[in-house]
This record gives sequence, C-alpha cells and structure tokens, in this order.
Amino acid sequence: MSDCIFCKIINGDIPSAKVYEDENVFAFLDISQVTKGHTLVIPKKHQANVFELTPEVAQNVFAAVPKIANGLKKAFNPIGLNVLNNNGEKAGQSVFHFHLHLIPRYGKGDGFG
Ligand code: 5GP
Ligand code: ZN
Repeated sequence: MSDCIFCKIINGDIPSAKVYEDENVFAFLDISQVTKGHTLVIPKKHQANVFELTPEVAQNVFAAVPKIANGLKKAFNPIGLNVLNNNGEKAGQSVFHFHLHLIPRYGKGDGFG
C-alpha cells in the first residue's frame, strides 16, 4: 500500500529502529515509547487489521512473537511484557496496517497502565 506508513517502514522509505526481521515479519521500536523497548510487530504483507488478517499471516506474526519478546527481555531486562492489538478507530487503531504492540513492563511507575 503506497500511502501506508508501515509499508514505507518495511520498504525503508521511512527510517525505523529495527528490532527483528524475517521473510514475513518486521519489528521496530514504536516512535512513541510507552515504556522502554516498546516494539511494533507487523506482517510484511499489508492487511489492515484483525478483520482482514488471513490465518497464514496471523501465523507468521504470532510465530515471531516469542523470539522478539525474548530479545527484548535480554536487551531491556523487563519483569513482564504486554502484547496488545487495536482494531478499528474506535478501538484505538491509528495505523491501518495490522500490528502487535509489545510493551515491556518494569513494575510500578513504568509509565504504562
Ligand atoms: P495503534 O494506535 O494503531 O495501535 O498504534 C500505532 C502506533 O504506531 C503508535 O503507537 C505510534 O506511536 C506508532 N507510529 C506511528 N507512526 C510511526 C512511525 O512513523 N514510526 C514508528 N516507529 N512508529 C510509529
Ligand atoms: Zn501497510
């Protein structure tokens, strides 16, 4: 999708801090870090949200999550991690390319929740 910010990030047209990449999945630091290491995991194939997500693409994205979560654990030493996903404007989705938020948690006062 030519006007999609996340497709541009995958293509390298918009710079990002890459956390992980494989054939089907890309992960990068969220520009607005709610906690240290806040990461977005996206499929390389443009699908807007969970309502459009094919099982194959869902499988690709979710298969990468444990690897990325463990990478974040190693890098930032959180004590927990939230996996969040917003679908539709009224549910808080602002970028219409499916993404999971991986939010490392550091305990009371970590700035989230
Ligand atoms: P949503 O609200 O759709 O669940 O999450 C979209 C996320 O994308 C937000 O947390 C926002 O900070 C992040 N974001 C939006 N534009 C950019 C960008 O250009 N670069 C990066 N790294 N993150 C972005
Ligand atoms: Zn896209």
